[in-house]
Amino acid sequence: MTKWVLSFGPEGAEGGAEMRNLLGGKGANLAEMCNLGLPVPPGFTITTEVCTYYYANGNSYPAELKAQVETALGELSTRLGKKFGDAADPLLVSVRSGARASMPGMMDTVLNLGLNDDTVAGLAKLSGNDRFAWDSYRRFITMYSDVVLEVGHEHFEELLDTAKEEKGVDTDADLEAADFKELVTRYKKLVQSKTGKPFPQDPEAQLWGAIGAVFASWMNQRAITYRRLNGIPEAWGTAVNVQAMVFGNMGDTSATGVAFTRNPSTGENALYGEFLINAQGEDVVAGIRTPQPLTEAARKGNGKPSMETAMPEAFAAFVAVTKRLEAHYRDMQDIEFTVERGKLFMLQTRSGKRTAKAALKMAVDMANEGLITKPEAINRVDPLSLDQLLHPTIDPSAPRKAIATGLPASPGAAAGEAVFTADDAERVANEGRAVILIRVETSPEDIHGMHAAEGILTARGGMTSHAAVVARGMGRPCVSGAGGIKIDMNAEKLTSGGETISRGDWLTIDGSTGQVFKGRVAMVEPELSGDFATLMDWADASRALKVRANAETPLDARTARGFGAEGIGLCRTEHMFFDASRILAVRQMICAETLEGRNAALAKLLPVQRADFVELFTIMKGLPVTIRLLDPPLHEFLPKSDEEIAEVAAAAGVTVQRLTARVHELHEFNPMLGHRGCRLGVTFPEIYEMQARAIFEAAAEVFKATGDTVTPEVMIPLVAMKAELDLLKGKIEGVHKAVEAETGTRIAYLLGTMIELPRAALRAAEIAESAEFFSFGTNDLTQTTYGISRDDSARFITEYQRLGVLEGDPFVSLDQSGVGELVEIATTRGRKTRPDIKLGICGEHGGDPASIRFCAETGLDYVSCSPYRVPIARLAAAQAALAPGKDRREDR
Ligand code: PEP
Ligand code: MG
Repeated sequence: MTKWVLSFGPEGAEGGAEMRNLLGGKGANLAEMCNLGLPVPPGFTITTEVCTYYYANGNSYPAELKAQVETALGELSTRLGKKFGDAADPLLVSVRSGARASMPGMMDTVLNLGLNDDTVAGLAKLSGNDRFAWDSYRRFITMYSDVVLEVGHEHFEELLDTAKEEKGVDTDADLEAADFKELVTRYKKLVQSKTGKPFPQDPEAQLWGAIGAVFASWMNQRAITYRRLNGIPEAWGTAVNVQAMVFGNMGDTSATGVAFTRNPSTGENALYGEFLINAQGEDVVAGIRTPQPLTEAARKGNGKPSMETAMPEAFAAFVAVTKRLEAHYRDMQDIEFTVERGKLFMLQTRSGKRTAKAALKMAVDMANEGLITKPEAINRVDPLSLDQLLHPTIDPSAPRKAIATGLPASPGAAAGEAVFTADDAERVANEGRAVILIRVETSPEDIHGMHAAEGILTARGGMTSHAAVVARGMGRPCVSGAGGIKIDMNAEKLTSGGETISRGDWLTIDGSTGQVFKGRVAMVEPELSGDFATLMDWADASRALKVRANAETPLDARTARGFGAEGIGLCRTEHMFFDASRILAVRQMICAETLEGRNAALAKLLPVQRADFVELFTIMKGLPVTIRLLDPPLHEFLPKSDEEIAEVAAAAGVTVQRLTARVHELHEFNPMLGHRGCRLGVTFPEIYEMQARAIFEAAAEVFKATGDTVTPEVMIPLVAMKAELDLLKGKIEGVHKAVEAETGTRIAYLLGTMIELPRAALRAAEIAESAEFFSFGTNDLTQTTYGISRDDSARFITEYQRLGVLEGDPFVSLDQSGVGELVEIATTRGRKTRPDIKLGICGEHGGDPASIRFCAETGLDYVSCSPYRVPIARLAAAQAALAPGKDRREDR
């Protein structure tokens, strides 16, 4: 019989950390902590398989579930000597969700379940604290109604505010037992009026309601969004954890808190976290009361005492547990705990989310401490997260005036237009504008806006608030809890430090210092030294796949070298032609009707093109540089406006009418499949001859000037047939001979082709007879394999993803089964003809970790990607070499 429910408790557990897929992260780690003998309140976990069953069977449970839950509940009762619904000594539990991958803030928690009009009295008697019992009951009604009965918590907060007003007090702390008792009456009335039914009094009915709500929440919009953003499959499902309650709100010797065993923002090896005395559950992360730091070192003499001084014994016990957990899991832990009347209880542990900066530091430190190995350190850092470190920071010399300071919740600087709602953030960002999302505090409903924003600013909330946790996870700079700012949501205005920022005004935030500035402050590029350089060195020593960059401007080439590129894998020469000073000659060349006309334009372009290559070869200093000859769909260069046509006509010495007619003649219905790529070279050989001459002359010049041997790799685009390549190869060889003779210099070079059409991939064996290298142009190869226009796909690809027709966007991550098969075919066939053929990829996929893994496993020699992706590719290539065939997503 399937076991749907597994128990855990101080004397051990039926599960363990290795059962994460079945028990969810929370359940597996609770079981593991029990097995370690740590103080964990007992309980049981309903497995993720129940969730999967539930959705596969029209929202119904397996037949055996009810009996198994009853058995587990019975065991729990026996263990604790407390019973559900017992008015004298009631069993109270928490119900929490827990998926395989952690989904912070996504799922809903219910605390104090089991309270009703009878048991509240029992709780009061047992605790000797009336106020505590009635406060717990009113909290339970709020949470349960919000999560299970769909009566929003704001209705209850309204009633709470009214109660405070009536009493003339400011905070909950000033309310007494009788006030909470009265509130419970009002809350129950509210529930009756909103749902038409009384608040459920039977604890078992309460439990089943909560279990159902957890499973239902797996399919709520924010969970769906989070899964989509993080690539978590729906099929994983969530588990439900039912655990005996312990109380952090039983007076001044009780507390609740969250901690990280190292600093999740900087990676520093120091206990980090926050706690609140006399508080319950989510109070710390909810940002309602500002929590206190755990250690004196973090308190730095400010504010109320830390846990270290306020409750030294519990603190010492807690520190010992955190050390044990980090050593056991060999990773930084994110921990939730409660102290009930001086006694410590562990409620959760998991690998903590961290910024890229912290991930790097921890990986390097832990390897140096001997806690993990170097290969493990390399695998600990998500390659895509490095992007966070490549972001700019505030230029220390830039003039600026801070208008507010909050907490440095997620590092990096960001500037953008002020927006005040998540929907607005998404809308404005979709127009290609940078935005900073400003909220009083964020909630899971804001996730899409946080994702769309460059940075996030909140007025309320601590370092572990929703905004801080989510922003760190997404790599968005965030300043939280900027208490000095006033936000008027209706007027969409922020005032602080005597300044006003309205919707659309620019502001800059610095998530590393917590500062907020009016306007757009200058920023500087990051320094890639220290831990970054160390980890990259380790990665470089582990990988076989080389990493090059797609670059054509001197700035890009320099950036790429700075990021460790081992050459240029794609220099798109047409990009060099868009410059305002050149476009006229290019248009003249494209529109020329005669050879003489074209040659006149080419003569203007030769010296500038040569100068480009001289600069590129000089910057790359002996590293390979692949230069692709002209490949634009012609329409990109055709003059469009009347002024442009007049200008080109004058330069070419023809009438406007004539040129207009020529432009019409050149019009194509499907330019991407038209007169582009090597077809241009075949029909106008003088264009490629000019480019080849510029390349060879530049190589000779740089060799003469610097003594560096330059070996250019001349690349022909969009080849479908060997005959195309042979024809062009002949022309290029001719130019090469001529330049060698003219310059008296021997110029080594390679001649190769892009493989970006299915026919080229299939005919790779014969194409390799003429090509010394292949570079897979997977942008065009994806476009032509699917028959999906790369420029028009956005309109329907998102819908395809939503419907599950496509899992990902094949233009972002390589379609390994289809397009990938063509890459494999071309690799095998090309190598058979020419065993030492050089193979690389230069489509956008060259910077995507999953595609890089595919390239490594297919045996390509290099990937080429945009300069900012180079470090990502270096790390991804190392991970592919260290753990072949592994899907990192499962780890997170
Ligand atoms: C490609 O098609 O993958 C490629 C690199 O070329 P482009 O993007 O310039 O067409
Ligand atoms: Mg292409």
